[in-house]
Amino acid sequence: MDRKSFLKTLSLLPLSASAMKLNELSTMASNFATTEKMPVIFVGHGSPMNAIEDNEFSKGWKAAGAAITKPNAVLCISAHWETKGTWVTAMQKPQTIHDFGGFPQALFDVQYPAQGNPLLAGEIKTSIKQTEVGLDNKWGLDHGCWSILNQMFPEANIPVLQLSLDYTKPAQYHYDLAAELMWLRSKGVLIMGSGNLVHNLGMVAWDKLNVSGFGYEWAMEANEKMKKYILGGEHKLLIDYKSQGKAWDMAIPTPEHYLPLLYVLALKKEKETVSLFNDKAVAGSLTMTSVKIG
Ligand code: ZN
Repeated sequence: MDRKSFLKTLSLLPLSASAMKLNELSTMASNFATTEKMPVIFVGHGSPMNAIEDNEFSKGWKAAGAAITKPNAVLCISAHWETKGTWVTAMQKPQTIHDFGGFPQALFDVQYPAQGNPLLAGEIKTSIKQTEVGLDNKWGLDHGCWSILNQMFPEANIPVLQLSLDYTKPAQYHYDLAAELMWLRSKGVLIMGSGNLVHNLGMVAWDKLNVSGFGYEWAMEANEKMKKYILGGEHKLLIDYKSQGKAWDMAIPTPEHYLPLLYVLALKKEKETVSLFNDKAVAGSLTMTSVKIG
């Protein structure tokens, strides 16, 4: 049904019902005005404290947010939401999830009161063909998502949705699924992957937490190779991360912090520019290297 006949149908409805429908309609992505292609970003999130600290990484997030035209919505793929099957958050008011322990009360006190967008969630579900995406009403926003957005868009006045990572699926599945989200870029939706390229918590150098830029040799080796492949468009090699040798095996002991990168890369159009920010190691076994496409 085109817009004209849709509006005609609305005019046949009682006034209150039609007012409600128009209101709902304006929050559907298919009804968002077509925009210039939104950039896509992968953000290395690191410590949850980056949510409230004013440091070089949070400054980088703020700058990245300021450089982007205000999105109609944000769709976040976070390392911290792993599920069986793929789900999209579909509640109107997503809760702020404090999914960590051992941090100061000030971090637990943070609320990120962004709205959700149930209609957009439904449209995302419908647009993905390769799997049946579920509508989730239990999750909310985990720290992989809100720790960044709290710095990037502190006003929390942009609706935010999360898409889960299906832990039963191989890397190629995630890359292919992400490609089906391409249409959202032209509807002003910012797609953001949140994880860390190099992420090995078991090997964190706790005694070097305050040594700026410290990364173990294997961590730097893996990170350099990843950057080379990201900038060179070598996505096949990045999807095939399990065959890249010892340094990569140590950098990606479990895939959840790495996979969000593949969602972002899959949304790159040919000839689009790729740039890096926050390109630094922390605590030996983590890198904060972040990627912007477009
Ligand atoms: Zn994390």
